[in-house]
Amino acid sequence: MYTETGRILTSVYVDALNAAACLCHETGAICEAHRLNERICASVCVSKEETVEPFVILTPCGICQERLAYWGLDVEVGVPDKADPTQYHSLKLREVQPYYWRQIYSENEE
Ligand SMILES: [Zn+2]
Repeated sequence: MYTETGRILTSVYVDALNAAACLCHETGAICEAHRLNERICASVCVSKEETVEPFVILTPCGICQERLAYWGLDVEVGVPDKADPTQYHSLKLREVQPYYWRQIYSENEE
């Protein structure tokens, strides 16, 4: 994650025996941004699993998109290139979710 002041925050996926206790890759960096009172302006999730070589770019899940939307729908997130998921393009959250539920309440805020 990249913050407005130029910090780079990283975090990892947290695995747990109970799937409901797992945390997405982005969660730690989002918590850190709140702790530091930093605005996140961009994010990319790089995932490496044993069965997938060498790595892939993951679009933030819906929950992480909600967490990132805290800083507005102009936050840019990495989405995988359809032909090569090891490469990414940056899209604003508003482009990833053109019908984001909250826009109807905050047309003038976003
Ligand atoms: Zn997530």
